[in-house]
Amino acid sequence: MLLTVNALKKSYSGAEGPVDVLRGIDMQVATGDTLALTGESGSGKSTLLHLIGGLDTADSGSITLNGQEISSLDDAGRAMIRRKSVGIIFQQFNLIPSLDVMANIAFQARLAGVYDLTGATELADALGLSAQLKKFPDQLSGGQQQRVAIARALAAKPQLILADEPTGNLDETTASEVMAQMLALVAQTGAALVMVTHSPQLAGQMSRRLHLRQGLLA
Ligand code: ADP
Ligand code: MG
Repeated sequence: MLLTVNALKKSYSGAEGPVDVLRGIDMQVATGDTLALTGESGSGKSTLLHLIGGLDTADSGSITLNGQEISSLDDAGRAMIRRKSVGIIFQQFNLIPSLDVMANIAFQARLAGVYDLTGATELADALGLSAQLKKFPDQLSGGQQQRVAIARALAAKPQLILADEPTGNLDETTASEVMAQMLALVAQTGAALVMVTHSPQLAGQMSRRLHLRQGLLA
């Protein structure tokens, strides 16, 4: 199993005491799985993705990626796993403003030590970015920025891709174009994908669907 999440719990302190956001999450994701994660706003979807991606730590429970328990690692250890095995695509794109498109695409791959120019160029082509490689993020449309964020994540050849409402900032037509390209590329790489989405149409294209409600998955 690529990813196993076991009895994962996370609470935040709120004005009226602790808020139990995740109350015992169990999930398994195999290589090649594509999983849609749905749930109301505030149900904890981003929290769960951040824990799996090692951006934050749980209160209890375990997250095992490739047989390695990431929940027990320190910040540096989790950062290492994130670089090597996980690609994260955020709703806000999170591109590096001072780097041009090609350098943004290369960024994660270089950190992971797997950068190759041919692969990066092919990804840029597949995502329709060939004419934008020397531009900077602020010279791109939202759809183009999201394509760069997708290329950047995929160029690092992650085994697990986490996408948090990746089309939330795009109009409907652009969103479905970008997602079709992304799903095709993910299928080519054989990576697993866990994607938060509000779109039933998009969720319908994934191999599995999970719904987060009151801190539990169903
Ligand atoms: P979703 O992504 O499903 O909309 P989130 O995971 O962002 O939900 O948030 C789940 C709940 O946890 C919300 O009530 C939110 O206000 C709270 N929350 C998220 N992050 C923090 C934080 N860093 N500190 C305190 N509360 C937080
Ligand atoms: Mg969220």
